[in-house]
Amino acid sequence: MNFPQIDETHDPARSSWVEGADGHTDFPVQNLPYGIFSPPGGTARAGVAIGDRIFDLKGAARGGLLPAAAAAVLDGTTLNALLALPGRDRIALRQALSTLFSDERQSGAVEPLLHRAADCLLHLPAAIGDYSDFYVGIHHATNIGKLFRPDNPLLPNYKYVPIGYHGRASSIRPSGVPVVRPRGQRKAPDADVPLVGPSQRLDYELELGIWIGPGNPLGDPVPIAEATDHIAGFCLLNDWSARDFQAWEYVPLGPFLAKNFQTTISPWVVTAEAMAPFRIPQPQRPEGDPQPLPYLWDEADQAGGALAIDLEVYLSSARMRAEGLAPLRLSRGPASSMYWTAQQIVAHHASNGCDLRPGDLLGTGTLSAATRDGYGSLMELSEGGKVSIALPTGEQRTFLEDGDELALKAVARAEGFASIGFGECRAVIMPAR
Ligand code: CA
Repeated sequence: MNFPQIDETHDPARSSWVEGADGHTDFPVQNLPYGIFSPPGGTARAGVAIGDRIFDLKGAARGGLLPAAAAAVLDGTTLNALLALPGRDRIALRQALSTLFSDERQSGAVEPLLHRAADCLLHLPAAIGDYSDFYVGIHHATNIGKLFRPDNPLLPNYKYVPIGYHGRASSIRPSGVPVVRPRGQRKAPDADVPLVGPSQRLDYELELGIWIGPGNPLGDPVPIAEATDHIAGFCLLNDWSARDFQAWEYVPLGPFLAKNFQTTISPWVVTAEAMAPFRIPQPQRPEGDPQPLPYLWDEADQAGGALAIDLEVYLSSARMRAEGLAPLRLSRGPASSMYWTAQQIVAHHASNGCDLRPGDLLGTGTLSAATRDGYGSLMELSEGGKVSIALPTGEQRTFLEDGDELALKAVARAEGFASIGFGECRAVIMPAR
């Protein structure tokens, strides 16, 4: 397993001459995530976040500031070609950027290409050809399973197969794009026939997204030992879910209209390279759980294939915002609640010869902690709609109401290293049309 190595770009002592970058919650010089942005009056182009600024990578490539391999693929309006580069070229780009932002002698060349992030519009970072969503958050799978099967929450395949389904790429949107409450079929347990109307059980799901880098040819599986070579980076992902539609439609083929009306992601690709200091051992499987099958097992993956990321979810109602109240934190938990690693997800997805392509997006599935304070959906927090959550205004929530704004946050932390964040992943719920 060739996990990206820690190098001088991760040095916590490395500082930046870019104002506000040092100690920035999300984007200090140790992060350097890539995205697609439009500066004021300008067209969409590649950029990298540094503090509260965005550096124009297209302009930098044209200006001869970047290594040739990366410069050659930074002219477009998506990052697919950048994601497709082999790790060594992405590392060379990261090292060059780290030098540009930390060496004050470079400021003359760099400063004209910096834009205030607040003035820019962020887009999806890639043309997402395919999106698949997994179900590897074991506490979430257990909690949801218990609602249907109290004595037997996990089905027998769960500990052998990284469970997943093919999602819908067309309705993925970056942070900030509102979510229109979907209409669909729902059937009350005691009703004979379904109704059609706006979802009454609109929920979120706290997930990580995995950006595919170099792909694999059709018919050629990705060996688990090479899976990390195909992961270019990570983002936050909110798999909005209409629980009432889901309960009615999911038998026998699985999620469909309950999930595909919109998916929100954080628009910055936090690179696999940036995550090097935040790799931790995969939690040991509980006593009695089966050993993963050989195509999913790799010692190095078990030793360092999990991610030290703290995840949080915040809710604010329209009334809370009008009254100037801070968002309410609904949960906080670790990303290490994944029963399968990102590498196992990738290896499994390609194990039958399915070709993954640069810019494909994989969701981990809802990442709930073991305890209630870290549950990653309202379905779990409200125990299927039975327990309501009090907001500071006195309003009550079991599921999302129109005007609610939901925000996910992620910060990677490790002793002795600068923390890095994932940026915004938020959206407001709009009334059904
Ligand atoms: Ca999901």
